[in-house]
Amino acid sequence: MNRVIQKFGGTSVATRESRERVLDKIIDSVKSSESPIVVVSAIGRKGSPYATDTLIEFINNCVESIEDREYDLLLSCGEIISAVVIASLLNKKGYKSRALTGTQAGIITDAHYKDADLLYTQPEGIVYCLNQGIIPVIAGFQGTTEQGEVTTLGRGGSDTTAAILGMALNASRIEIYTDVDGIMTADPRVCEKAKIIPQMSYNEVFQMADSGAKVIHPRAVEYAMNGNIPLVIKNTFTDEPGTYIIQKTKQLADKPISHIITSIAHKNDRVQFTIQNHGDCDKNLLDDIAKENISIDLINIFPYYKVFTIDKAYQLQLEHLLRLNQHAYSLIGNCSKVTIIGERMTGVPGVMARIVKACQQANIEILQTADSLTTIACLIRETDVAQAITLLHEEFNL
Ligand code: ADP
Ligand code: MG
Repeated sequence: MNRVIQKFGGTSVATRESRERVLDKIIDSVKSSESPIVVVSAIGRKGSPYATDTLIEFINNCVESIEDREYDLLLSCGEIISAVVIASLLNKKGYKSRALTGTQAGIITDAHYKDADLLYTQPEGIVYCLNQGIIPVIAGFQGTTEQGEVTTLGRGGSDTTAAILGMALNASRIEIYTDVDGIMTADPRVCEKAKIIPQMSYNEVFQMADSGAKVIHPRAVEYAMNGNIPLVIKNTFTDEPGTYIIQKTKQLADKPISHIITSIAHKNDRVQFTIQNHGDCDKNLLDDIAKENISIDLINIFPYYKVFTIDKAYQLQLEHLLRLNQHAYSLIGNCSKVTIIGERMTGVPGVMARIVKACQQANIEILQTADSLTTIACLIRETDVAQAITLLHEEFNL
């Protein structure tokens, strides 16, 4: 029987009614003579009693500080609760099912708590269920070290669990169910005109996810791509076909030249730092930043200064480091990185010119840019994001 991974996000498992839709999708798969392997996220978003953000808020109110090990142990509970609920509902409907933690599913990771990396899988527990005709429901977002310590895979990590299991179990498809009809040309919460994209390549989706489109975790795209397993993004609440993600096809390559851009992604909460060079101290600055585990982006180095951006969460930590080493710096807070993505823009002249012109006409200041073969990124102020995305959407006929 065809094995299909079906992953359901937080809003899909949030209410009694939404869970009925989840069961429908799983039962449809069984009725099509497939073998579903279900992965679930924690129930609901911020505010729901067992959502990841609620657990974080709860522990922050209980204790002043918490070890990373304990933090991961706590966070893993959200997905375990969700798996137990869905497995129990399936059993109640007469479909034999069993909830499994990440440990029981055999997802073995390194000990990098909060953002662990997969080492290997030992999915015997899942295979046992499948052989017995039991539907396994796996708690997403978590794994275990070889020593048996519970780890988590980073925010959005249930997508990663789905892709890891897709690879480990040689699934014929990985279905990611969420609250939108598929991947859209831009975040529908920011751009009213965003449209569904029926088919995309792994590379484009990876670029999009890596540039901030929250709809799927970039690492999940990487795993699916490495295993060459088709990835489908679908809506739990509709019967729309969704977005089908595969290797670059002729069909994708033959799109008209007017459609060189596929999508626009954005990442808020960026802070741009400009740091004056000052002699010997400089040599170690980037090393020191790396040692603090602060990831920098959009870096440009000039003879007298350097410019880069970081996530707002690390702003105070970096400022402390800079003051400690007496670096002169300035910063612009509340920035957003807007990235346009298109595998076919490589070598096409004038794309950057069109972006700059469109922004200038709307008085949107571009603070920095960067480009790669298939992306162009602009740093702008967060207050300009919705307008910038909407006008670029129009400029590139998305
Ligand atoms: P889940 O809980 O199901 O994992 P997420 O909130 O992680 O759901 O992802 C779905 C959300 O991603 C959508 O509600 C949408 O607002 C957001 N999103 C951002 N960019 C895009 C995009 N390009 N296409 C579709 N959705 C997007
Ligand atoms: Mg998600």
